[in-house]
Amino acid sequence: MYNIELLSAEVDIKKYLDEYVDIEEFLESCKECSNYGKKWCCPPYDFNVLEYWKKFSSIYIIGEKISFNQEERQNEYEKEEKIMFDILDKEKRKLTEQLYILEKQYEGSVSLSAGSCSLCGSGMMESQKCTRVSCSSSTARESCNHFDKMRYSIESLGGNVGKTCSKLFGIDLEWIEENKLPTYFVLVCGLLKK
Ligand code: SF4
Repeated sequence: MYNIELLSAEVDIKKYLDEYVDIEEFLESCKECSNYGKKWCCPPYDFNVLEYWKKFSSIYIIGEKISFNQEERQNEYEKEEKIMFDILDKEKRKLTEQLYILEKQYEGSVSLSAGSCSLCGSGMMESQKCTRVSCSSSTARESCNHFDKMRYSIESLGGNVGKTCSKLFGIDLEWIEENKLPTYFVLVCGLLKK
């Protein structure tokens, strides 16, 4: 049904900050996203993002390229879209669990999620909504339902995921365009090491 290719790279944090991170530009574009200010994993934050990066010495980046076969891509768009997002969700959960294991192996490390937090569910139902939606203070991250498990993503900290994929993995991100699904998706996550 689909193939998985795992790619990885480790980059010194100073080099990654210099070449792949633009906090001002990317956090500004986060304002266009429906998750902005509505999830604890997303900006605006109550901490200095640059100082957060600088607490670590390197970033280990994992790219999971998920390619769908031709037969699958001939299904109706809506059916295919649902299948793809179910697969992406499943693969993201697997990566998350693997990263928690890596965190235990590397003292002081913190993982970076593939996209925004979905630990409470898809957000379609009231019970699945992030608690930040109903929290009056934007600085009370302890109100997160899974405070110990929630992780930021590379992009939510100003990282350029597109450039990361093209320069480090040699693949360009593809997007859904005009009801046409891409031939592959790439889940990008990582581990910040001390
Ligand atoms: S775990 Fe739930 S409450 Fe916490 S950031 Fe994720 S969606 Fe929001």
